[in-house]
Amino acid sequence: MTARTMFDKIWDAHVMAEEEGEILLYVDRALIHEGSSHAFAALKKRKQKVARPQQVFAFTDHYVPTTSREKGIAGIAVDEIRNMVIGQHENTKLHGIRLFGFDDPAQGILHIVPPEQGITQPGMLICGADSHTSTHGAFGSIAFGIGASDMTHVMATQATWQRKPKTLRITVEGELGFGVAPKDIILAVIAKIGAEGGVGHTLEYAGSTFRRMSMEGRMTVCNMSIEAGARCGMIAPDDTTFAYMDGRPWAPKKGAEWDAAMALWQSLPSDAGAKFDREVTLDAAQIEPMVTWGVNPEMAGPVGGAVPDPKSAPDERRRSDWAMALDYMGLKAGMPLQDIAIDRVFIGSCTNSRIEDIRAAAAVAKHGKALVPAWVVPGSKTVKRQAEAEGLDKILTAAGFEWREPGCSLCTAINGDQLKPGERCASTSNRNFRNRQGPGGRTHLVSPAMAAAAAIKGRFTDVREIIK
Ligand code: SF4
Repeated sequence: MTARTMFDKIWDAHVMAEEEGEILLYVDRALIHEGSSHAFAALKKRKQKVARPQQVFAFTDHYVPTTSREKGIAGIAVDEIRNMVIGQHENTKLHGIRLFGFDDPAQGILHIVPPEQGITQPGMLICGADSHTSTHGAFGSIAFGIGASDMTHVMATQATWQRKPKTLRITVEGELGFGVAPKDIILAVIAKIGAEGGVGHTLEYAGSTFRRMSMEGRMTVCNMSIEAGARCGMIAPDDTTFAYMDGRPWAPKKGAEWDAAMALWQSLPSDAGAKFDREVTLDAAQIEPMVTWGVNPEMAGPVGGAVPDPKSAPDERRRSDWAMALDYMGLKAGMPLQDIAIDRVFIGSCTNSRIEDIRAAAAVAKHGKALVPAWVVPGSKTVKRQAEAEGLDKILTAAGFEWREPGCSLCTAINGDQLKPGERCASTSNRNFRNRQGPGGRTHLVSPAMAAAAAIKGRFTDVREIIK
């Protein structure tokens, strides 16, 4: 029998039909947020119902405020945001969709809550109304973001038309160095293959570095696959995955259900000898804490380095891209990254707002006081409760950090949390595009520990000098 990749196994199991190179795939889970109002409006116009509401899950995250929530939905100050939240509650009720809404004890980001709840499972095909749906590939699933019209199709049919991508295996071997986080690994991967290096491919992350990584770290890595141009990234399920799944509300129950699931899950990893269309290898020992200096995640370097000179770019396109990036970011070629002073810090987003991220930030924060406004926005109420039970909120607030309510917040700045023009932010989110955190805002992507280090120094700092 031909050796198959994990991607091929899951893809083949979901094929329903093929037409002119497009494949109709069965969708196990659809994940939506307040912005999916367009899909509900389209269904209403066509007088269609949601085909399988029990396989659609909704989350109040993109628009929800991250402070002053005591007065409930009615207390949301901005009319447009309040109406988005109310509209989502009405639409999901009408269609019988499970909503992790404003008052739900498990409310949070659509890439944080489904893994917490066991909604995300190995072997599934998952579509989400946000490009960072690639996060869920950490469980050994095919997971990708789709636009509003595709989501309407999924909600009406529980299927999606897609073209089959090629496969790219990214192998990282070795132990992570002291102070080096999964965020640094994925930033190093993107710096190596480029922001378009994964276009037309699905990524499989393989090697001992990922095998040793926690599920939370794996989610951070898969989350940013889209920033390398790939729509999905995945990691083979293993004992770490199975232990994480055990006992979660939507996970298979122990007994026959669990045994059947395990039989499938254990069959998913790529077979020995499976052929990938491309292969890339990195050595974990060479990776250091990273900082982005430009306007896409490829424009990144180790914290001990300097802002590059566009004159040294490998080609004309990058020479011009780098020059424009430095202009937007207000940086000079050759300046050490550690000389860059920051105005704000954001620790949050579906990339880095899980309990391990909050722990990493608190472990650094206790070594000083924040010199600039520094927000910590947990990814869900579950994360928030756990962090508070561990006393992490106390450590952070004692160090001058602001402890907020769960949501997307400053990752995408559509709920009103945003940078002022020209403000420079050390951010644990996933995109440093122009204007991403507010018009004229300047974003530098870093790990949670590096963000906390930047907060207590007021500039980028090698976190290894603080936690020694
Ligand atoms: S945190 Fe950012 S990337 Fe993640 S779901 Fe929210 S807006 Fe999208």
